[in-house]
Parts: sequence; structure tokens; C-alpha cells
Amino acid sequence: MGTRAAVYTRISDDKEGRARGVARQEADCRELAAREGWQVVEVYSDNDLSAATSSRKRRPDWDRMLDDAEAGRFDVILAYTTSRLTRRPREREDLIELHEEFGTGLRFVASPDPDLSTADGQYIFRTLGGNDTAEAARTAERARRKQAELAESGRHNGPRPYGWDIHGRGADQRLTVNDAEAAVLRECVDRVLAGEGLWKIVRDLNDRGVRTSTGKPWATQVLRRVLLRDRNHGYRKHQPRGKDGKPKGKPALYPGQWDPIVDTETHDRVVALLTDPARRSNNRGTEAKYLLTSVAACGECGRPMVGTNEFNYELKNGRTRHYPHSYKCPHAGCMKVQRRMADVDDHVNRVVVGVLERDGVRLLGGDPVAADAARARISALEAKLALAADQFADDTITGEQLQRITARLRPELDAERARLRSAQPAANLADFAGPGVAEAWAGADVETRKAIIRLLGMQITINRVGPGNGRAYDPASTAITWN
Ligand SMILES: [Zn+2]
Repeated sequence: MGTRAAVYTRISDDKEGRARGVARQEADCRELAAREGWQVVEVYSDNDLSAATSSRKRRPDWDRMLDDAEAGRFDVILAYTTSRLTRRPREREDLIELHEEFGTGLRFVASPDPDLSTADGQYIFRTLGGNDTAEAARTAERARRKQAELAESGRHNGPRPYGWDIHGRGADQRLTVNDAEAAVLRECVDRVLAGEGLWKIVRDLNDRGVRTSTGKPWATQVLRRVLLRDRNHGYRKHQPRGKDGKPKGKPALYPGQWDPIVDTETHDRVVALLTDPARRSNNRGTEAKYLLTSVAACGECGRPMVGTNEFNYELKNGRTRHYPHSYKCPHAGCMKVQRRMADVDDHVNRVVVGVLERDGVRLLGGDPVAADAARARISALEAKLALAADQFADDTITGEQLQRITARLRPELDAERARLRSAQPAANLADFAGPGVAEAWAGADVETRKAIIRLLGMQITINRVGPGNGRAYDPASTAITWN
């Protein structure tokens, strides 16, 4: 049998009694019980309106509750605060006695839980029980006012945020930019804006031994939160809260008393990108995973091949068969070509590196005019996305509208980014021309490699191989032509 709880509510003509009717007290207590997994077996309620605090007038449900406790009908009494339960010292003694004899516990929604099994706990319950409510409310109100004050004056409050160092204590506390961490933040911002997935940035940071402000490895959600902070562009965000501690009204931004790490325009673009619902679902950005997906063509039907993940298949005899990463033709009516990815990639990598070593400088000449045009279109699209995100945040448009807008702008943005990549002037690709090519290629991500393959005008076709030929890789089965 689980813990059985009794709820006690009391209506009275004092501040708390007027503010919190019995229904509200009961609901709060039931919520507490639900949280603890306790079963509420009885609700006791007294009307104390006509009696003064010191009154000795009997409260029928109070007496009934004590009798039931002695009869072992429940294990714990729940009330909103100690003063809702009782303000009378003699009754508090009854409760202490009840605990000692029958083990009946006390729990409160908005007062500290007394530990009646110790002399200290009993002392606190006896002496502070009477006016704890007013004190608790005053404390909460003071804390709320202090928070709002700190926020309005643009002061930081809380643990050290990534990117800044904290100096001084209390009212003298101030933040200065931590150069090393600020550099990491700016790098992450650039990479996010370049379309890189958070998961990948996180993996890279952790590989490099970069740690969070608490010295832990990065996680995608942590980096996301850090990148979305208004603190980054020099603003202090404050969410006002009501008496119940719940958010009340819209969050406000106040100029912070610290130096920003990114400018507002850049920050807005990051927010637009990271809050884009299309991206949110997978956190993988827009980047590709496999080198030749939609680059290589099927030798049978001419349509683009796709990369597939590796997997293990359990055979009936209990053995496991491993299927490695592969490229295959996914198109209905064909699906005739499939090849081990490692073999094809290896072959293509060799060819590309050979060509770049020989002729990279000329081949990667790029087109600065086209690149500038693409950049201009990219900022325009990003501004539109940022605007939509702001409107969504301001409730000017619905989430559905935001989704429609991003769904429309996203492919345009991706296309412009691809145009920018393929029009990059030689300076950005200098590593991929001349003697250092092999190393640069080995260190490049899939996205960059794909861009270079497109830039080189390579046409890659994966042909079908005859039966019995499947094990050994025949380079001739991957045909490379040049535009
Ligand atoms: Zn095909």
C-alpha cells in the first residue's frame, strides 16, 4: 500500500485565507500528493471566518482529522502552509504528539517541511509556524524585486556564462570578455551561419578538448542554448514572474553592462537559423553525409545515386551479416546498381587529388562576381528568415506561418549557398591546389569535397557489375568524365 494522505484546508479572515480559497488550497495539496505519488484518502475543511486567531472555538473537521489519524486512516497530512493548518500553539503541540505516537507526517505546499522527529525540527515548527506565510511571501517578493532590478540595470546574475569572466561579488559583480572563449563562440556562430550542423560543431569542439564554462564536454542542446543567449549581443533578458512564480508577461531585453561578443545583426541571423523549425527536427544542418549522394549517377538509369547507412542483419543460423555503407540507385523501376561506398569513395578521392595536384590552380579559379551576387542574395534571405523568426517571437505570425515562410525560403537559401560555394574565388581554395592537396582533401568535410567535385565538373557514373564480380572492386566500373 502506498502513502495515504489527508488534505486539510481552512478558510479564515486573514490575508492568506482571503487570497487562497479552500478549493485552491485543496487543488495545490492534491498536486503535491500527485507529485509524490500519494493517494489522497480524505479532505478535511474548516470554516474559521468567525473566529479570531486566538479563538478557542472548536473546528469540527480538525477534531475529526485527529481522530482519523489516530485510527491510522492515513500517513501524512497535507496543507498549503503551516498557518493554514493551524495558528494555535496548542494545536501544533497536538500535531507533534500525533507524529511521535502514530508517525503521522506533515507536508506543506508553501512552507518548509518540518522534521518532527528531531527536537530542532519540533522547535522550528512550534516557534516559526505562526507567521511563516507572511515571511515566505515577503522573501519571495524581495527576491522577485531584486531580480527585476538587476535585470533593468543590465547586470549579470548567476553562474559564470561561457564567453565571459566574472569579477567581484554581489553588487560589484561584473563581466569581462574571456578572449579564448569568445573566439570559440564567434567560430561557432560562423559555422552555424555557414550551414554546418550543431552536432558536428560539438563533436569538433570536444575533439579539440574545448569545454563548457563548467568544464564539461559540449552537447548539442547546450551549444544551442549558448548560441541563442541574448547576452551574446550585449543584452540582458528578463522574464517577469508573478506571485506564483510563473512567467508573467513577455520577457524584456535591457542593455547589459558587458561587452558583446557578436553584433546584433549576426545574432539575429543565428537565432533565425537555429529556431527554424525545418532545422530543429534534426539538428543536422543542411550538410551532406555521403560524398557522392546526388553527385554520382546510376549507370543503368542515369538518375542520382544515394548513400546508405551500414547495418547488421541477423541470419537464421544466428550469425550476423554486416552490410557496409554503400551507394545505390533508389529509383523505382531500376534499383539495379549498388556498390560498396568505401571502394567508390576511395577511387574518386584518388582521382580528385591527382587532378588537383596537377591542375588545381587553374581549375579552382572561381568566379568572384558570381560569389558576390550569391552573398548578397544570401544576406537578403537570411534577413527575411530573421524577420519571420522575430515576428513569430512577437506573436505577429503563427508557428505554421513561420514554418511556411522558412519552408519557402530554405531551399532558395540552400541553392544560393551552393552557388556561393561553387563560385568561391581561388583564395578560399588555395589549399586544394598544388602540393598540399592530399592533406587538405583528407581533412576537408563532405560538403567541401562535394563542392570541389562539382566545381571540377566531374561526372561520376557507377555502372552495374556482372554476377560474381561483386567482391573485388573494379575501378573501371566507376566511370569519370569531365565537363
Ligand atoms: Zn538506376
